[in-house]
Amino acid sequence: MGLGYRRWVRANLLREEPGPILGESVLQRIWFEQLVRNPLSSLAGEDITLHHPGIWNHRAGPDFLRATFSMPDGRTLTGDVELHRHSSDWNAHEHSTNPAYQNVRLHVFWQADPVRCDPPDPRIRQVALEHQLSAPLTELISLFRSSPAEILTGEKPGRCHPLLLALPPEKLKEILEEAGWHRLRQRRSLAQARVVSLGYEQAVWVGLAEGLGFSENREPFASLARAVPIQKLLKIPDSVERAAVLYATAGLLPDPTRIKVSERALPLLKRIWDSWWRVREVWAPYILPAGSWRLGGARPNNSPYRRLAALVAISYPIVWQSFMESVRDGNVDGFLAILRSISDGFWDHHAGWDGRILSSSSKLVGTDRAVALLFQVLAPLAELTEPDLGERMESWPPGGDAGLLRSASVRLLGVPFPPADVRTHLAREGLLQIYKDFCRAKPCAECSMPAFLKVR
Ligand code: SF4
Repeated sequence: MGLGYRRWVRANLLREEPGPILGESVLQRIWFEQLVRNPLSSLAGEDITLHHPGIWNHRAGPDFLRATFSMPDGRTLTGDVELHRHSSDWNAHEHSTNPAYQNVRLHVFWQADPVRCDPPDPRIRQVALEHQLSAPLTELISLFRSSPAEILTGEKPGRCHPLLLALPPEKLKEILEEAGWHRLRQRRSLAQARVVSLGYEQAVWVGLAEGLGFSENREPFASLARAVPIQKLLKIPDSVERAAVLYATAGLLPDPTRIKVSERALPLLKRIWDSWWRVREVWAPYILPAGSWRLGGARPNNSPYRRLAALVAISYPIVWQSFMESVRDGNVDGFLAILRSISDGFWDHHAGWDGRILSSSSKLVGTDRAVALLFQVLAPLAELTEPDLGERMESWPPGGDAGLLRSASVRLLGVPFPPADVRTHLAREGLLQIYKDFCRAKPCAECSMPAFLKVR
């Protein structure tokens, strides 16, 4: 009965044309788990040794980012990976004309089409998985129910996670906090350089804008903060005019006569446009180029439109003055209270001009982001000595467990959240620093961190 059923499953589920069981999500799981032969054979007959499958990208763009693999001549290459059911899907999905796919170096699919499909770019190796799995597909599928944290974060535990977890908690905390100090000193050096070139107030403004941009929109937010300096905004007491300057200079003010916007957004848009007509000549030369923003991947609560509303609110002169004082004095309570208090009648409930409504009313800057800004803005720019800052940081909230921290934690510690006894603010930042310096820089196999940990 067992063997008969198994044969039946193989005959019926592993048919020529992949059915729903072999959708792209299954292929992504196979790739993520590296349940493939190694080395893999490309369609051109090259042996490709896979070192790391890449970071699973759950947003727009290639399926895996920054995979590492080596070629028969010994070269180690890094690039993105796109997975499909058929080799012809690359052209069908028009990836060659999409800049998001320009770093793809491996095109992996279940089956090669009978009609030959030349590689879309000679740097892209094509790999058919159909005959290169490490076990029968039906047996692999049962494994797919495991490791939800890994799936969620797109990361896998790395080589040093057993070593790190085996350390006594105080030792682990010491290592992570050392890395946290390294990160903080780098930030303080950059902040000081900015103070010298831009002045203290503008350095705070640029740092705040960058921090509100998250990793996706860090650059355009910084460019916007330079294009619209805080000293000029502070001379505009009317919040609608400040909104006009910021949204229009960002290139994020839609023309409702040409682009469909929500009925609910129209009254606000009309007021902003009325204001923009009066000042556009002054600001037009500074408008950011089209395509500066990544609008697709951000969660609705974190949309750049809402972050711009936060900048509009915080640049109100009285609010800004208090914010500046909190940064200068290293006043954590004041800093967090100001960020949590800013709000906007429209943007507290919406994620975009198209009327996307948030599931519930949401602060323009949530607690997790406000706490993250402590390390991005307050710690680098507070006028405190290092020992004083270090002492105060011991009582700072450790910060949220969102996004990158979870990826770093899975990779380095094998768990989605750092253990409670090392969850200090500095340790959290140290984890992120190690992840950036080591895990995102090199394949695990070439990394010196395990050797460093063994001598600690
Ligand atoms: S890349 Fe280095 S630091 Fe990261 S998990 Fe692998 S061995 Fe550890």
